[in-house]
Amino acid sequence: MRAVVYAGPKTVHVEQVPDPRIQAPGDALVRVRLTAVCGTDLHVIAGHLPGVEPNAVVGHEFVGDVIEIGVAVQRIKPGDHVMASDFTACGRCRWCERGDHWECAERAFFGTGTAFGPMLAGAQAEMVRVPHADATLFPVPPGCSDQAALLVGDNLATAWVAVERAAVEPGDAVAVIGGGAVGQLASLCAQTAGAGALVVVEPHVQRRRFAEAHGALSAAPETARELVHQLTGGDGADVVIDAVGGNGPLRAAFELVRRRGRIVSVGTHTSPGFELPIARSFAEELTLTFAIGDSIRVRRRLLALIASRALDPTVIISATLPLADAPAAYAQLAEQRQLKVILDPTR
Ligand SMILES: [Zn+2]
Ligand SMILES: [Zn+2]
Repeated sequence: MRAVVYAGPKTVHVEQVPDPRIQAPGDALVRVRLTAVCGTDLHVIAGHLPGVEPNAVVGHEFVGDVIEIGVAVQRIKPGDHVMASDFTACGRCRWCERGDHWECAERAFFGTGTAFGPMLAGAQAEMVRVPHADATLFPVPPGCSDQAALLVGDNLATAWVAVERAAVEPGDAVAVIGGGAVGQLASLCAQTAGAGALVVVEPHVQRRRFAEAHGALSAAPETARELVHQLTGGDGADVVIDAVGGNGPLRAAFELVRRRGRIVSVGTHTSPGFELPIARSFAEELTLTFAIGDSIRVRRRLLALIASRALDPTVIISATLPLADAPAAYAQLAEQRQLKVILDPTR
């Protein structure tokens, strides 16, 4: 089959690789209808994650059709049209039963080396092997497009858990740091949850315009505090969502949050430390939390919001390209010329 493979620093190729096959009783094989390129993939090919070897198939966002199942698979069957979580979980252990699938000992993350579990071939391919198919896969419901279901598996789940963890309530003033795919989706999710004033903080003007065209206000980082304070009578935001990660955006979040406000970070962090403004955090009773998308936990809710047209995540898709154009898709995403690129392995 054809697949997008890691071919050296910041390089991907589309190559012929061996077809995947069932390896464990809980596996399924999925023929991929659509797959997507994600900011995480840029980290993968930049060499920021361990265990990414040359010729490793990359990618972790996909929808498709089940073509074969292992003997232990019960809920999923051949012919099912399915979406997938970007990581696997057993669905049966105490962590999974609590809804904490990310903590499952059976976790493996598609196409990201060994950073988040044992190596698992990625999904930017014509076919993908899915361990623990009963938990990892979920039928795409009527009324939900492939494009929308694709986004549920990672970016939309990440955006939603930020809103969920922040406990956004109707009327809350929300600031979202970062106008990439997850930041824009966090803006949409916060609106769905009833946010009042909503500001997307983003340096690039096109991404600010995009946020404004989809129900938010926007500000460049240097003017964000002024706008948020203007909108909140000088208080600051009830909720700040960091959709970028790293210490700089986290410091910016502290600049925007009100007393007794909540900061949720869903951006990727690799820095070992951060200088927490602890006296202020205590005096102002601030909340700082982190969250990682768990589509297994939130997919039913998200698919219902999509099917009822309360939420349309597909507005962030800026291009759909054939699989063969994966190198161009990666380059355009890295240069921030695209917000979200979908790859079609059937073309
Ligand atoms: Zn992703
Ligand atoms: Zn588990």
